[in-house]
Amino acid sequence: MSEPTSLAWFRRDHRLHDNAAFAAACDADRVVPVYCVDPREYGDRPFGGPDSFDFEKTGAHRARFRLESLADLRASLRDRGSDLVVREGRPESVLPEVAAAVDADFVTVHTRPTPEESRVESAVETELRDGGVELRRFWGHTLTHLDGLPMALSDLPDTYTTFRKAVELAAEDAGTGDAAAGDEHASDGDPGGRDPLPEPTVPPLPDDAPDAGDLPAVSDLVGTADANADRAPDDRGVLPFDGGETAALDRVESYIWAGDHLREYKEARNGLLGADYSSKFSPWLNEGCLSPRYVKAEVDRYEDRRVENDSTYWLVFELRWRDFFQFQFAKHGSDCFHREGIRERTDIDWRRDDAQFERWAAGKTGIPFVDANMRELNATGYMSNRGRQNAASFLANDLRLDWRRGAAYFETRLVDYDPASNYGNWAYIAGVGNDSRERSFDVRWQANRYDEDAEYVKTWLPELDALPAEYAHEPWKLSGAEQASYGVELGVDYPEPMVDFSD
Ligand SMILES: Cc1cc2nc3c(=O)[nH]c(=O)nc-3n(C[C@H](O)[C@H](O)[C@H](O)COP(=O)(O)OP(=O)(O)OC[C@H]3O[C@@H](n4cnc5c(N)ncnc54)[C@H](O)[C@@H]3O)c2cc1C
Repeated sequence: MSEPTSLAWFRRDHRLHDNAAFAAACDADRVVPVYCVDPREYGDRPFGGPDSFDFEKTGAHRARFRLESLADLRASLRDRGSDLVVREGRPESVLPEVAAAVDADFVTVHTRPTPEESRVESAVETELRDGGVELRRFWGHTLTHLDGLPMALSDLPDTYTTFRKAVELAAEDAGTGDAAAGDEHASDGDPGGRDPLPEPTVPPLPDDAPDAGDLPAVSDLVGTADANADRAPDDRGVLPFDGGETAALDRVESYIWAGDHLREYKEARNGLLGADYSSKFSPWLNEGCLSPRYVKAEVDRYEDRRVENDSTYWLVFELRWRDFFQFQFAKHGSDCFHREGIRERTDIDWRRDDAQFERWAAGKTGIPFVDANMRELNATGYMSNRGRQNAASFLANDLRLDWRRGAAYFETRLVDYDPASNYGNWAYIAGVGNDSRERSFDVRWQANRYDEDAEYVKTWLPELDALPAEYAHEPWKLSGAEQASYGVELGVDYPEPMVDFSD
């Protein structure tokens, strides 16, 4: 009888630590790690559904980050005598071919709750089944395991606070919380759910494995219109964001331990400039280079060794927000992408105005706080949480432009894009999400509160450098004579505001 053979299908879980799917694949004697560059994840795509529009699925920032993550994963696997087989093509075509070539018995993968990802999994499962190969699914991208939820998915609260309290209570009762008895998504039983899993012993790549293949270049994946493709990192950016598990673990080490930033995270997290006002873990979490359970274990260790305070609690509180959106999408499915949202609100008159949308996207609204944030996003792929809230609220609540176009623009640009976190937050701010409270932001008030001396705005809008802070946030208040004396002419050096904020 031949030795059991598995394929480890990597898909936004580009790590060896705490990787339940890969650990299960490594139970076989022969393991072939595979990654599919799915053409559906790149290029211009229709949003789908009524009032669809086209947008680029993945921009240069995330494409670069992903390719670096894959290169890092491949290097780690090679160090262990294995490799990462990379193929361009749809997983439902590629995986059955590779499985047949090495006579695989099963394929492991981390499942995702969002509709596009689920559809691909189902297609893969069907094609594999036809060839007598089993797809084994694991749940591994949240802090609380799906099976560790203290309620059925259909009973999941639609407000965060109710969800959080229930999960925190269950965590206390369980001692560590975030536990799962097993994994329904794994037919052979997932040991995961409690503490992060150790890295498995990786079997060497079988001799009959196909050629590893080359990783594509960024320019193979993103449109030529994406001017950022080959740009060096902007030195105003918060971090260079190197992709991969190695850089992810380095960031945890430097943020939590060397920098000791969990002493003040709760107070600092509304910052706008610099590497350390918040953890910046999001790109690594979303591309799967970093496990949220690993982060939680590091926070626990920090509490044991250094200090337990509001900040240590708050980082986990934020990770639970991330979980909340994942489970919301598991519960509500494609409704989360509807313009009317899960609350089916039909009372909002969403507008379409391409010229206004382009001004917002380019950071040329004439509202400096919005523009600075959009320019940071365009140049670096990152924007602070404070910035995202304001930029999104301006589009959805002040301009009343279809919030899904804004969300889709973020999807293209963000280095840390995740469907549930992105569309969930956007829907929430647009008032169609999981909270009936008014979520509109007063961007002028926010600018003065969070960028008091206008340092952030001037970093990204150097044309406003000569202005005192008050005017840098509200240049429409400048008289003609003041414009002349500061050398900033509205409509020439910086745009006139798109909305009338004079009161
Ligand atoms: C309109 C809008 C769109 C967003 N799109 C995304 C997205 O595509 N991907 C994404 O990861 N986050 C998104 N967020 C949430 C949040 O802005 C980012 O997670 C955060 O800014 C990342 O920086 P950080 O890692 O330093 O966060 P920290 O403050 O250090 O938080 C730690 C981690 O908690 C999680 N987290 C924090 N806040 C949220 C939140 N509101 N929702 C979900 N998770 C959260 C993230 O995983 C983050 O890495 C969005 C927020 C808004 C308002």
